[in-house]
Amino acid sequence: MTEPDGGSDLQAMRTRAVRDGDDYLVSGAKTFISNGGLADLVILAAKTDPAQRAAGVSLLVCEVGEDSPGFRRGRLLSKIGLKGNDTAELFFDDFRVPAANLLGGAEGLGFAQLMGQLPQERLVIGIGAVAAMERAIELTVAYVKERTAFGKPLIGHQNTRMVLAECATRTRASRVFLDDCIARHVRGELDVATAAMAKYWLTEGQCEVVDRCLQLFGGYGYTTEYPIAQMYADARAQKIYGGTNEIMKELIARAL
Ligand SMILES: Cc1cc2nc3c(=O)[nH]c(=O)nc-3n(C[C@H](O)[C@H](O)[C@H](O)COP(=O)(O)OP(=O)(O)OC[C@H]3O[C@@H](n4cnc5c(N)ncnc54)[C@H](O)[C@@H]3O)c2cc1C
Repeated sequence: MTEPDGGSDLQAMRTRAVRDGDDYLVSGAKTFISNGGLADLVILAAKTDPAQRAAGVSLLVCEVGEDSPGFRRGRLLSKIGLKGNDTAELFFDDFRVPAANLLGGAEGLGFAQLMGQLPQERLVIGIGAVAAMERAIELTVAYVKERTAFGKPLIGHQNTRMVLAECATRTRASRVFLDDCIARHVRGELDVATAAMAKYWLTEGQCEVVDRCLQLFGGYGYTTEYPIAQMYADARAQKIYGGTNEIMKELIARAL
């Protein structure tokens, strides 16, 4: 989906797919593509009708390889976190895709197809957020029971107790909300606004809880030896990808 000129305004995407006999010729650039450095099957969002916004978007299933004419992988982006996952640029220059690979069999369905599946992606992001919050608390509780300051374990200091109580409450409430979203998803009832609420609120919670837990590790929390540091760097992207949290609030507001 995402292009160098913008990710939030998907309808303004510039990548073009022009019909040429039994194929489409695709030209354009994508960026921030998770697993783009490794993928050999890419579902590409492109405009089959550039005069239209949403109605001009189609999804093409593209088989890509290092020797595919008209296809090139760009850099792997250097990120502050999520180091185990590649995030790449992809370039298309008259790249040929069989017309049979048009997802859904008709042009212009792409935007609706994306909107249909993005709630599930946002739910998955929310699951990661709650798992990270729970793990951060687990690691921090173990640490503050071991580490001492002023003659007693950190857990004996009132601030530590209050911070962890707040984080544990936020995390429990998050899990209950998440479980409700999962149940809605299983019933096929997870709507766009509820999924946006989950993505926005759970990832905000993740960043807040991980940050507050890191503080309780003191200086060690800032060193990469301690997993909480990596969790802090990894958490930040959660508020950005899958649609930024600002866009999530737009989606929620539209449903009010
Ligand atoms: C690690 C990582 C992995 C990613 N993986 C993928 C992937 O696999 N596939 C993919 O397609 N994309 C992927 N992305 C891209 C991601 O979805 C986009 O970065 C995101 O949608 C935002 O687009 P942008 O970066 O162009 O920011 P912009 O759209 O330029 O937004 C910049 C800022 O403006 C704000 N903004 C924009 N419009 C509005 C508005 N209407 N109201 C209020 N604020 C607004 C945004 O919230 C943001 O804060 C990934 C990104 C990262 C960091």
